[in-house]
Amino acid sequence: MKKTIVTIPGDGIGPEIVAEAVKILRTVASRFGHEFEFVPVLAGGSAIDATGVPLPRESLDACKAADAVLLGAVGGPKWDNLQPADLRPERGALLALRGGLGLFCNLRPSVLQPQLKGSCPLRADLIGDGLDIMVVRELTGGIYFGEHRRSEDGQSAWDVMKYSVPEIERIARKAFEVARRRRHKVTSLDKHNILETSRLWRETVTRIAADYPDVALNHLYVDNASMQLIRDPRQFDVILTENTFGDILSDEASMLAGSLGMLPSASLREDAFGLYEPVHGSAPDIAGRGVANPIATILSAGMMLRYSFGLQTEADAVDRAVSQVLDAGYRTGDIMTDGGLLVGTSEMGSRIAEALIP
Ligand code: NAD
Repeated sequence: MKKTIVTIPGDGIGPEIVAEAVKILRTVASRFGHEFEFVPVLAGGSAIDATGVPLPRESLDACKAADAVLLGAVGGPKWDNLQPADLRPERGALLALRGGLGLFCNLRPSVLQPQLKGSCPLRADLIGDGLDIMVVRELTGGIYFGEHRRSEDGQSAWDVMKYSVPEIERIARKAFEVARRRRHKVTSLDKHNILETSRLWRETVTRIAADYPDVALNHLYVDNASMQLIRDPRQFDVILTENTFGDILSDEASMLAGSLGMLPSASLREDAFGLYEPVHGSAPDIAGRGVANPIATILSAGMMLRYSFGLQTEADAVDRAVSQVLDAGYRTGDIMTDGGLLVGTSEMGSRIAEALIP
């Protein structure tokens, strides 16, 4: 298989962690006989310094021409207060990338590796052998993209929450397809008892479910789901929800995985294209020291293999390699446990690459 991957190292620890994910993708390519071409581009603070804008036209064009994008992280104290706000890395680069590439589906897996159970804030009997939840969040609709207004006298304000049937259908299909690669269960969250958008959401998701008879569907009110995530997280496989609920619930679910350094994500559209990035930011406090945890970015590269390239065996191999290295006791500082073997960013990447080679 031949693929072009744009890499956006970005700022802070971005370049260090992207280098390790590229190391893993190169190892996968040579072990499984694929050809991956890497095209590095600028975005974020480093792009502002070099070109004056957070997302140069050539960077967006390169992403549009690629099969997938791997992003480290953008931002840092030097750029976070620039005026106007559209110049700031998160808004000017991240949101512009998601919008410019039409990425409407956000996947946030929250996996608690059994080796890191000690970092999970929940009681051992609630965790069992580990947790594996996938939040599928609609990313380009709902209240965040509706009308935002103040009344003329400034004494009231409103934000419009709006969803159309096609918007709900396409995200629902993504969730059912993701569930087919997992444990075949979708829990759809809404506020059906109060919101009209939620009634449309539930009707549409239920109708689409008929096309996926091998996947079980249940519906929960989002407030109940927020409680159930703490009370009994193992009941969940895929959680499907709209933009705002997903924003909040995916952060709650991510806490269960113990460390920010372990959390990957993917943003997808209808075709196979996707943008893959760790959930964490550019960690300026530890940048340049070679101590950042590259696992979230490596797992994001694994998601790229699975969701953009359809390479399940290769993606499974990456997940297994990460697990083996954790089993062997290797830890970066953020996930250090008693008796762990402390390693830096590059050594963690190399250990995972070695574990990929039988
Ligand atoms: P952050 O995620 O960068 O860091 C929070 C804490 O977690 C820090 O103590 C950091 O050292 C630690 N941490 C994060 N990733 C780590 C890793 N891989 N290994 C070890 N430790 C890790 O969040 P922040 O400090 O709030 O933001 C820093 C900058 O990142 C800001 O400029 C912010 O705007 C930006 N940001 C970017 C993204 C993105 O690019 N997607 C997301 C969030 C924040």
